[in-house]
Amino acid sequence: MKIRVNRIIKKTKAEGPGVRYCIWFQGCSRHCKGCWARETWSFEAGKEYDVDEIIEDILSTKGIEGVTFLGGEPFEQTEALEIIASKVQHAGMSVVCFTGFRLEEIKTQNCLKYIDLLIDGEFRDNEKDYSRPWVGSKNQRYHFFTERYNENILKSKNKIEVRVQKNGLILFNGMGDFKKLKQKIDMIVKH
Ligand code: SF4
Repeated sequence: MKIRVNRIIKKTKAEGPGVRYCIWFQGCSRHCKGCWARETWSFEAGKEYDVDEIIEDILSTKGIEGVTFLGGEPFEQTEALEIIASKVQHAGMSVVCFTGFRLEEIKTQNCLKYIDLLIDGEFRDNEKDYSRPWVGSKNQRYHFFTERYNENILKSKNKIEVRVQKNGLILFNGMGDFKKLKQKIDMIVKH
């Protein structure tokens, strides 16, 4: 089984509770207005991996609380999502998944049974709100499917992580006002 991935960060504290292994799925046919991740839309871009290769990498990464799936749209590659999520849960780690769909649209998907926390709804620019953890707009909802997490985790704050690669490329992840942050970084770089 193959999976098309936009990027992977093996350890981040900005995409769900605790330290997490994060997989950005490549491909999203929803094309929401105001989407800030347009590079994840194409189903041709990114990189193809073998699902087993990813599972092996997750299981050999020390010090993670679980895995977060983001996109792109994880629910456009549900078979791969289900296989990875089930292995992660089986290994005693937690599974968090973001989707642009509303739960009502995907409620028959089998992979939901391997997800501890589902965060649904696309980012909406006109409903921007960075006051809640990991989400950027008011329409997005948290669904706790297992006892692993509950509303208590929502007391944590939104975070943005910045990584500077060896080639000078700056990568952001997490959630917050990316535009403002970029302006600040541009000012620093210019001075
Ligand atoms: S569902 Fe998410 S990734 Fe897909 S277009 Fe909408 S905001 Fe972008």
